[in-house]
Amino acid sequence: MHGFIPHGHGTPIVAQYDARMGDIARSAVKLAKGDALVIVDVQNDFLHGGPLPVPRGDEVIYILNRYAARFAREGLPVFATRDWHPPNHCSFLEQGGPWPPHGVADSEGAQLAPALRLPSDTVIVSKGTDAGREAYSGFASSELAALLERKGVKRLFIGGLATDYCVLNTVVDALGCGFAVFLLVDAIRAVDVQPGDGDQAVAAMTSAGAVRLRLEELSG
Ligand SMILES: [Zn+2]
Repeated sequence: MHGFIPHGHGTPIVAQYDARMGDIARSAVKLAKGDALVIVDVQNDFLHGGPLPVPRGDEVIYILNRYAARFAREGLPVFATRDWHPPNHCSFLEQGGPWPPHGVADSEGAQLAPALRLPSDTVIVSKGTDAGREAYSGFASSELAALLERKGVKRLFIGGLATDYCVLNTVVDALGCGFAVFLLVDAIRAVDVQPGDGDQAVAAMTSAGAVRLRLEELSG
C-alpha cells in the first residue's frame, strides 16, 4: 500500500480505505469446480525427530489442515504425495545419493504426519518407488497427472515439504502440464541446504507462472 500522507480534510483516510479494499479485491481467490489441493510429502521422516527434518516443517500441518477443510467443505478433491522409496533407493547416502534414508515404503517414517487431518477420500500418490530413479516431483513416474485430468482439475493449490525440492519440482511440473498453480506460501518450508535456497525456489516457481497465495486470500 502507498504511504499515508495527511493533507487535510480527512481525505487521506478515505484514500487509505479504498486502497485496502482494492488490495483485497485483487488478491481474493474463490475456490471453484476444477480446483484441487495437492499436499506434498508431509511425512514423519521430514518432520521434527525424523532423519531428514525440514526446519520448522511441522508448522505447515496446522495450516494445511485448514486448507484441506476448505477444500472438503467445497467438495473439491485433495491429493497427498509421499516419498515411497525402496530400501536401496538411489537418493540414499549408501547408494551415493545426497540424503540419509527416508520415506522407505511401509515404514513408520514414510507415513503421513498423524496430525494431518485429511478428508477420508484424499488420494494418496506414491512416488520414488523405483530404486534407480529420483522423484522430487509428485508428477514423476506417478499417476498424479492422469488422476487430475480424470477429475477435470484445472487449478492446483500446492503446499507441503520441502519448498526447495519436492514442492519446487511438483509446481514446475504442474505448470508444464498446463495446470494453473497457486503456491501456498504459508504452508511450505525449505530445507535451505544453502541459505536462501527456499527463497530462490519461490522466485523460480513464481517466475515460471505460479501465483503466491495465503489462506486469508481465499474468499468465502
Ligand atoms: Zn526421497
